[in-house]
Amino acid sequence: MKLVLASGNAGKLAEFRQLFADLDFDFHPQSEFGVDDVEETGLTFVENALLKARHASRISGMPALADDSGLCVDALDGAPGLYSARYAGSHGNDGANTTKLLHELRNVPDEHRTARFVCVLALLRHADDPQPVIAQGTWEGRILHAPRGAGGFGYDPVFLVPESNMSAAELTAADKHRLSHRGQAMARLHTLLQSQ
Ligand code: IMP
Repeated sequence: MKLVLASGNAGKLAEFRQLFADLDFDFHPQSEFGVDDVEETGLTFVENALLKARHASRISGMPALADDSGLCVDALDGAPGLYSARYAGSHGNDGANTTKLLHELRNVPDEHRTARFVCVLALLRHADDPQPVIAQGTWEGRILHAPRGAGGFGYDPVFLVPESNMSAAELTAADKHRLSHRGQAMARLHTLLQSQ
């Protein structure tokens, strides 16, 4: 099945192609069909993933898969949440986002620094599909007081993975994929699609 990935991220495209190869899915980036980014006006990860998939499917005329992800910190009532990428204002500035997060949590003790990464994947067979396939993954951890490690991206250096006592940026890519919200959501989607 030919499928549009509603993302401009080449790394994500490669990961999806690899994981879903056995299911005969043929992923294409949305740029191939002239799909631009849609405004993410939803109030939940699910709504934003659906908005992105619907937009890509409507413009391309093909089935579309979209993801939405972010970090939810309990002491901040779930922030940065949907706004994780633009927490400090400029889109995609990982360093500024992390600095702002550590500042907001400066007076919060370890036991209240609980947080989780969330990833939602939504697949629409066509733009008006009333039955999307939705898979979600979460990854529980705690926010450190200072960055650690050089791998990963985004908030990885300040996200402590309790089982390993390492930050997400200190894990190997394979270990991160096995444990992470995105890895889990992808595995769930794979299972759901296998049984369709
Ligand atoms: P999205 O690309 O709109 O889903 O934005 C997700 C944002 O959430 C990213 O820009 C990061 O700031 C954060 N994020 C999501 N997943 C991860 C992760 O695995 N590690 C670190 N940060 C993440």
